[in-house]
Amino acid sequence: MVDCFFCQIAAREQPADIVHSTEHVVAFRDINPQAPTHLLIISREHIESARALRDRHAAVLAEIFQAAGHLARAEGVDSSGWRLVTNVGPDAGQSVHHLHFHLLGGRHMGWPPG
Ligand code: AMP
Ligand code: ZN
Repeated sequence: MVDCFFCQIAAREQPADIVHSTEHVVAFRDINPQAPTHLLIISREHIESARALRDRHAAVLAEIFQAAGHLARAEGVDSSGWRLVTNVGPDAGQSVHHLHFHLLGGRHMGWPPG
């Protein structure tokens, strides 16, 4: 999808601090980090959100979770702890409509208030 910013990052048509790249997945640093480690793990394929996942996306999801484990170790937050979260729709605050998981770590995180 040509007008999708995250598709353009995956295609390297837009700049991003890419830290991991595989057949189905790309990961890069969030431009507005909410924790010392804040990475975005996205599908290469344009998928609107977790709501649009289908059986055929099993390999994409497997790679996302493999990337999360690998990146948590690489960032040095594996033993201190980390969070993997994906937002779906307006109440969750989804602002980019291309599947992405936030990998957060490096500080204590309480359960989200409000
Ligand atoms: P969400 O609100 O869950 O849709 O998350 C979108 C995330 O994308 C936010 O945390 C933004 O800071 C991040 N973001 C938006 N544009 C960029 C960009 N060009 N490079 C890196 N992260 C971005
Ligand atoms: Zn896209």
